[in-house]
Amino acid sequence: MRRKYQKLGKKNNNPMKNTIEIISIYVVLGVTWILISDEILNVFSSNHEFHEFLQTIKGILFVIFTAFLFYFIIKRRMDLYADTIDDLGDAVTQLENSNTSLKKLEKVLYDKAYYDDLTNVYSRAKILEDVTDFIEENENELLAFVDIDIDNFKELNETKGHDIGDVLIQQVAIELKRVIGEDNIIGRLSGDEFIVLIKSKASKQELIECINNISKNIKKTYFLDREDFYASLSAGVAIYPYDGEDYHELLKCADIALNEAKLLGKNQIVFYSEKLADVKKNQAEIANQLYYGVKNQEFLVYYQPIISNKNLKATMVEALIRWNHPMKGLVPPLDFIYIAEKTGHIKEMTWFVIKEAFKQQLKWKSQGLNIQISINLSAKILSSHTFVPKLTDMVKEMNVETKQFIFEVTESMIIDNLEETIKTLMKLRKIGFKIALDDFGVGYSSLTYLQKLPLDYLKIDRSFIKEISDKEKSSPVLQFMIDLAHKLELYVISEGVETEDALQLLKDLKSDYFQGYYFSKPLPEIELDQHIFR
Ligand code: C2E
Ligand code: CA
Ligand code: CA
Repeated sequence: MRRKYQKLGKKNNNPMKNTIEIISIYVVLGVTWILISDEILNVFSSNHEFHEFLQTIKGILFVIFTAFLFYFIIKRRMDLYADTIDDLGDAVTQLENSNTSLKKLEKVLYDKAYYDDLTNVYSRAKILEDVTDFIEENENELLAFVDIDIDNFKELNETKGHDIGDVLIQQVAIELKRVIGEDNIIGRLSGDEFIVLIKSKASKQELIECINNISKNIKKTYFLDREDFYASLSAGVAIYPYDGEDYHELLKCADIALNEAKLLGKNQIVFYSEKLADVKKNQAEIANQLYYGVKNQEFLVYYQPIISNKNLKATMVEALIRWNHPMKGLVPPLDFIYIAEKTGHIKEMTWFVIKEAFKQQLKWKSQGLNIQISINLSAKILSSHTFVPKLTDMVKEMNVETKQFIFEVTESMIIDNLEETIKTLMKLRKIGFKIALDDFGVGYSSLTYLQKLPLDYLKIDRSFIKEISDKEKSSPVLQFMIDLAHKLELYVISEGVETEDALQLLKDLKSDYFQGYYFSKPLPEIELDQHIFR
């Protein structure tokens, strides 16, 4: 291309010089012709008329000669010009071609930057641009920024492989596209995280309805690798202009809300609020103070009796941790357990509870009380390779009877690492410990897990028992759960028994054990009413 331009440049080197050259030749030739031909005429003709005639001939000859001269010069220039035009044409074609390639390249780069490879929905960059444009152009309108995440995706990815994980991401993207409607936008941030932008809704209420509708439609069974896989989503919502004034602020708020949705048990939508932000700030403080809490041994264990249906006596207790904070007083576990999970302090805390429970059981045994103690485990400790060996050492050292202890695990703890957890639970049972599945019925419940897991007890979550006053409504579900547990040869512990009505119904439904405020709150050992055991 550059060579072509150089060639063109040479041919049209200097138009002014060329023109002066031609004019000079013409002037020199013309003047010379006039002078010489006049001299010759003077020599050859003395006759005036003949002289006139020759002058005319000479003039005609001059015109013919100059005409030829102009013809050649112009022709040469015109040829050159035509060449140049041809060259220019070629150059233009080449330019056009390379322009098309450039455009193609530009499109490839655009697609790469603005569309997600896997799902073909918008990329992070495009979402950023869209949000920024929207805010610039629609200062007074609402925009919902929804951060969406597929529940338990990590587990699917690990058990089924990344290819299957990718298929689920693609299917969810298709579903999201279908349900959000044409006016709204969907993009993928990374992994299983999507962003949906909902525009053109007049009120916050309308936005909420729209988001609820999306959530309802997305929860479904997807067909992956010749198997059905039920997927639910968690979402965090931030609304412009209330929660943030640009992409980054909105993303931050939506992310806080999404985290909260996960912590609340997944499969739900949480809207960002100032209160939530305060809570988060408070959490950061707690995380910091946990370090000193562990160091200064500020933790205690409370026990809540678990009553047998046979004789309405407490044959078990659940060990529940308490934090005796130097400034805040007694901090409930729900305020710090999941933070301790994140910071890793949960391991030390669990070991503390186990040791306390071991000591307590030996103490009761020495008092002639035969009481089993149920201990809550955490995902972190359950997945730790040193857990079982360390526990075995402790059992030997303290000389406790393993059959007197139950370890409580939740589905969400198991799901993240199913195969490994099953192995650990089997080892625990082999040493003689019992296993209970805690909080059954909330969040991600899959009945197939019930069959796979090595279990002894099923603890029905208190949310099922809370609504018991309306007997008609809740009893078929409870009946089903209790019957199922019995078919699987599991004992049923009903949590959160607060009323006589609830107790009566659960008795009728043949729940094996009851736990709840109706009998006793969790208390320190010395405050427990001994009558409940005897
Ligand atoms: P959880 O394992 O489901 O424990 C039962 C919770 O329900 C206890 O709350 C208990 O006080 C409460 N509860 C018992 N009966 C009733 C009732 O009749 N009505 C109502 N409304 N609530 C009742 P707590 O002690 O605040 O513990 C909350 C959660 O914190 C526990 O739920 C458990 O998930 C966790 N947690 C407690 N201690 C430990 C621990 O040592 N280790 C671990 N990993 N988690 C713990
Ligand atoms: Ca529990
Ligand atoms: Ca529970």
